Amino acid sequence: MAYDENKYSVQKLPNPLLLHWILNPGLAINEVILGQRIPKVTLIDKTSKAPLVERTYVPCPSCGAIHHGMLWGKGNAFGHWLGYICPNCEQKIPCLWNIFSLLLLAVLSPIWFPLKKIYEQKYIAYELSRYKKAAANIDKPINKFTWIKMGASFGLLMLAFFVATEYFRDGITLDKFIFLAGINAIGGLFFGAVMWFFMGRKKG
Ligand SMILES: [Zn+2]
Repeated sequence: MAYDENKYSVQKLPNPLLLHWILNPGLAINEVILGQRIPKVTLIDKTSKAPLVERTYVPCPSCGAIHHGMLWGKGNAFGHWLGYICPNCEQKIPCLWNIFSLLLLAVLSPIWFPLKKIYEQKYIAYELSRYKKAAANIDKPINKFTWIKMGASFGLLMLAFFVATEYFRDGITLDKFIFLAGINAIGGLFFGAVMWFFMGRKKG
């Protein structure tokens, strides 16, 4: 698919941010546990001075539609294990896979393969139903509170993940919980700050 390169800068491999996404083992957690995905091709509107998050677009290779990246932003960033589903033609928009996710998925395939066979169509219907809410979000202005909420949700999700892991490993105690809560509060703040730094700042 060809894009208007006067208007868009096309982000695809070997773009360093995308390389980082497929090579960093930590991001396998985001992909496999949280279902956070990055499309293989992202378009950035070069002609706009809006914050990055507001001028990021995701093209659908099946129907050619160019979707606002915020459809998969606030409130709809997670749970995309099947990849992005195009709200226009309902086909899959190809996403990257982290190489450690692929290894993990290969090991876990006896678990997810039957689930996929049974629930894939239902899950696609659910994904499509989430776009209404996400589309409403596009019109809402983004402010500092957005990034705080994003950091807090990320911290809570990671906390839940660590607490569950520890619980099954050798039980959870109050001390451990407080320690994990502290670590993940810092992690959440850091995540929110990084997202703001890359996505939320206005260009000068
Ligand atoms: Zn499409």
